[in-house]
Amino acid sequence: MSQAKANILLIYTGGTIGMTRDFKTGALRAFDFKTLLEKIPELQLLDCHIKTLSFETPIDSSNMNPRYWVQIVEMIERHYEAFDGFVILHGSDTMSYSASALSFMIEGLTKPVVFTGSQLPIGDLRTDAKENLITSIQVASLKSDNVPVIQEVCLYFEYKLYRANRTTKINAEHFEAFQSPNYPELIQSGVHLKVNKDYIYRLPSSTPLKIYKHLDVNVAIIKLFPGITEALITNILQTPHLKGVILETYGAGNCTTELWFVNLLRKAILEGIHIVNITQCVGGSVMMGHYETSSQLKEIGVISGKDLTTEAAITKLMWLLGQKIPAKAFKIKFETSARGEMF
Ligand code: ASP
Repeated sequence: MSQAKANILLIYTGGTIGMTRDFKTGALRAFDFKTLLEKIPELQLLDCHIKTLSFETPIDSSNMNPRYWVQIVEMIERHYEAFDGFVILHGSDTMSYSASALSFMIEGLTKPVVFTGSQLPIGDLRTDAKENLITSIQVASLKSDNVPVIQEVCLYFEYKLYRANRTTKINAEHFEAFQSPNYPELIQSGVHLKVNKDYIYRLPSSTPLKIYKHLDVNVAIIKLFPGITEALITNILQTPHLKGVILETYGAGNCTTELWFVNLLRKAILEGIHIVNITQCVGGSVMMGHYETSSQLKEIGVISGKDLTTEAAITKLMWLLGQKIPAKAFKIKFETSARGEMF
C-alpha cells in the first residue's frame, strides 16, 4: 500500500533547544521559530510535511504550569484532524511533568504526541538537538498501513523513545538525561528505528477523543526523611483547600510507625484529603502490607501509587481531582492504569 506523507505539527514551547547563543555575550536567547526550517535544512530532507507553531513568548520550562499545559492541549485539539503527529519542543527540566500531564489530559489518543528538547541549543557545534528533533519527527511520522505506529504521548531523548508518563529526568548534564525505570523503551534509534511492538500503547477499546482542561493544583508532595517532624506534616496537611498529597515513602512503601504520623494521616483522610503512597526509590513499586511499616497505611485508606513516578503521580492527582470524582471511586480510579502509567 502506498503511504501518504505524514503531516507533522511542531509546537515550540521554549527551552534550550530553540535558543541560539549570542557569540559576543555567550548568553542564550530564544530565536524566531518561524525560521526553524532555514536554520535546520536537514528538516527539508524528511519525508513529511512540517508546520510550526510557537508559544507567543517561549518559556524556560522551570516556569511551566498547568495553564500552559492547557495551551498545548488546545493547540493539539485545534489541529488534531489535520495532522498525523505532533512534536512538542519543551525544556528538559519539567518535560516529564508536562508530558505526563498531557497523557492524562488527552483521552482516546490515536496519534503520536512526542515531547523532545535538548541539553545544548540547536546552534551549538556539539548539539544533541538535531538528532532529538529529527528522530522525533520521524517517530511521529511512522506509519504502518497508513496507521500511526505510536498512538500515545511519549518522550524522545538521546536515541530512545519512552512512554512519557513513565519518565523522569535523571541528569542535568549528560545527553542521556531521562530514564524510564519501570517500563521498557518503545523505540531504540540506531541504524534503524527498532520498535518494541509489545510495549507500545493501544487503546483497550475504541474510545472517542476527549480533552480534559481542568486540573486541580490543591496538591502537595511530601518526601519522608528520617527526622521529619510532626509540626512540618501538620502544617502541610492544614494547607487551605488541600485535596491530595503524594507521599514519597521508603522502599516498597514503608514509613515510620510512630503514632503521631499515622494519626495525622488518618485525620487528613477522614477530612477528605486523598493520600497517595509512592516510593522515593527510582525503580520498583509500592506494596502496601508487605511490611508492618506499610500495613498501617493500607488500613487507614491510603491509595497505592504502585510503580508511578513522582511526575506521573502528581499530574494524575491533579487530573483526577479536576474531575470531582466521589471519594470511594477516587481510590479505585487512581489505582487503575489510565494511560499505561502504572502496572
Ligand atoms: N532550563 C531549561 C528548560 O527546562 C533546560 C532545557 O531546556 O533543557 O527550559
